Amino acid sequence: MTILKNVRPMGAPATDLYIKDGRFAAGGDGEVIDCGGRILIPGLVEAHTHLDKSLLGLPWYRNEVGPRLIDKITNEREVKVSLGLDPQVQSERQAIQSMAYGTTQIRSHVDVDTHHGLAGIEGVMATREKLKGYVDIEIVAFPQSSMMPRPGTVELMDEALSMGADIVGGIDPCGIERDPKGHLDAVFRLAEKHGKPIDIHLHERDAMGGFSMEEIIARTIAHGMQGKVTISHAFCLGAPDRDYVAGLQEQLAENRIHIATTAPASAPVPRVKELAALGILTCGGNDGIRDTWGPYGNGDMLERAMFIGLRNNLRRDDEVELALDICTYGGAKVMETEGYGLDIGCQADCVLVEGETLAEAVALHAPRKLVMKGGMVVARDGKAVIEAP
Ligand SMILES: [Zn+2]
Repeated sequence: MTILKNVRPMGAPATDLYIKDGRFAAGGDGEVIDCGGRILIPGLVEAHTHLDKSLLGLPWYRNEVGPRLIDKITNEREVKVSLGLDPQVQSERQAIQSMAYGTTQIRSHVDVDTHHGLAGIEGVMATREKLKGYVDIEIVAFPQSSMMPRPGTVELMDEALSMGADIVGGIDPCGIERDPKGHLDAVFRLAEKHGKPIDIHLHERDAMGGFSMEEIIARTIAHGMQGKVTISHAFCLGAPDRDYVAGLQEQLAENRIHIATTAPASAPVPRVKELAALGILTCGGNDGIRDTWGPYGNGDMLERAMFIGLRNNLRRDDEVELALDICTYGGAKVMETEGYGLDIGCQADCVLVEGETLAEAVALHAPRKLVMKGGMVVARDGKAVIEAP
């Protein structure tokens, strides 16, 4: 039994919380942790990242990659081995760093292609095993290099899902794949065969993105997959033609399709207030951190909440709280996490944050005083209790 003394759950007045057998309990005796009146939030949820790609801990990578999406994809596939990028080591480094920032669960897209086969999936699965009890990792089998133009990829995706990948990934059915029907039919067939949800990267903008989105919606209906499909990025929802976007959003809401946003500064983004008003579940993610795509990022989901706020012009306290909600409860709902939250009976996955209010906690995103996973301390004062390799 552990007692969190003098703590403010979600900014409420100070109280004591009790943890027994890894879950919040009604009361009891035990080891006391003085929380100094700090705010407690449930564990941050990293709902869109790429654990297999990060260059954390490796020498600085001088990025001279071309401007197109396909330049970044091709370059990465070709330099992975020469850079000494071991998916197990790199995923462990990033996951431990995320833990220190208060993330207790991660959804990671992991590359599956005919060049590297299932090395990424095997590596991240090994990390998931190694970090069991510290941070939960969900794996999306992700055909980063496309499927139809590269024969053998669909078979590898199938194998990845049999091996233990949790979710079927996909990518720009028109822009990268250039075969929307072939790509989306393959994605939904794999989901049906393995009984697993879907999370598709959709960078396509404006009408092209809208077309792909409607194709995804049509298949969600045809396969009865309402509530099981996430569209990541969904830049087309940031398009200037708001009447057109409203029509798309209505269909997303109707079919309970979720949105994952990373709120990049470099692209139009879904407007999170509109999504919330329509009841569309939205989660947040850091996307790639310090990789061959770009040098930025650190894995901090509280900072990502700030970026979501900045990108969406969220200023009022209730609006900043929405950004935080996306990076906590939103992610947990999309990932269907059992027992998420601070209520009695919930898993004691939680973070002590600095600040007088939730909005200040987001704006400051100061080092986390304490992070717990299932009632066990996994990080203190911004430092994880285990060493990265
Ligand atoms: Zn991504």
